[in-house]
Amino acid sequence: MISPKIDEKTIEKLRALINGVQRIAITCHKSPDGDALGSSMALCHVLRRLGKDAVVVTPDMVPKSLEFIPGMREVVVFTKHEQRAKKVLGEAQLIFCLDFNSIKRIDRLGEIIEPLNVKLVLIDHHLDPEDIFDVSISFPEASSTCELVFRVLMQMGLLRYMDRMAASCLYVGLMTDTGGFAYSCDDPEFYEIMASVMRRRFDRITLYNKALNTFSADSVRLQGYALCEKMQLFPEQGAALIVLSKEELERFNYNRGDTETLVNKPLAIPEIYWSVFMREDPDRIKISCRSQGDFSVSEICARYYNGGGHENAAGGEFDGTLDEAVAVFHQILEDLFPQPAAPDLPSTSNQQTINN
Ligand code: 5GP
Ligand code: MN
Repeated sequence: MISPKIDEKTIEKLRALINGVQRIAITCHKSPDGDALGSSMALCHVLRRLGKDAVVVTPDMVPKSLEFIPGMREVVVFTKHEQRAKKVLGEAQLIFCLDFNSIKRIDRLGEIIEPLNVKLVLIDHHLDPEDIFDVSISFPEASSTCELVFRVLMQMGLLRYMDRMAASCLYVGLMTDTGGFAYSCDDPEFYEIMASVMRRRFDRITLYNKALNTFSADSVRLQGYALCEKMQLFPEQGAALIVLSKEELERFNYNRGDTETLVNKPLAIPEIYWSVFMREDPDRIKISCRSQGDFSVSEICARYYNGGGHENAAGGEFDGTLDEAVAVFHQILEDLFPQPAAPDLPSTSNQQTINN
């Protein structure tokens, strides 16, 4: 049995909010991934079947690799259709915030949403959500936001509106946020949710391959290059680092999504239990981290890279050069794995070495 984890008062409040409105906007974090888009689209499909005018607004572009998610063509992308996005949000009577915990994760959409006199509903599985939401459904232990959307629908008695399209969308998030059912899915209820979703009989294999196993030729070559030429290993600290510059990305005609699973690859090496990938984007350095076991990369990303996330999958942004971001990585190694000082060095000269 799937237990009702969300408290009844919250569900009642949400029910009243949904019943009282017609126009609903749904938004998710920037650089949206399979869980952000899958949960947003699934909820959108169900709300539409309930007769609501529901629209998904994303802060920025949807990666080409996720365009297969049912209904994705109707998503309003803020950076592409700013006026339309402002209109949808301005007219919304209720806004769902999916798969993010802090308003800064939606970039400029935050500035638009914050002054609006509209109720905000959070459904999310990141640690430490901000206290700005009228309804907050936050379960960091959940596999994905898609799992939480399922639980919300179940507890509201709306599962009969979960059609094949909505189920496909949920499947994408359940699959991608667990790395293809590899991690964050120890809870037996996860599989009961999967079973319920699977009963809608969509083309599971095609979705799986499109979400996890489809890359352009350029992307496959870029990943090969990165692993062969750019992967640095630090076996004593269990770490791997891959850094790709703007020039390297351009050489392989980089498109968003092309490096999606690259950061996981070094974890195949037995000595490596945490992996860092740095990508020089036009406006910032994007950091992605993955780990295995109880080594928390979310703390590292929060402390050093202005980010956060989950224990084993986190990310951040670095405002500086690629070299500076790499220097911070070396600082992390020093901080987390301090080398014993050489016994014959006087402490003053040791100090000098650090300062230099
Ligand atoms: P990815 O490495 O796939 O971009 O992100 C993995 C996870 O890290 C995301 O699901 C999200 O939870 C978190 N994350 C990624 N980038 C950021 C960021 O810039 N800030 C915060 N707070 N979390 C991030
Ligand atoms: Mn997620």
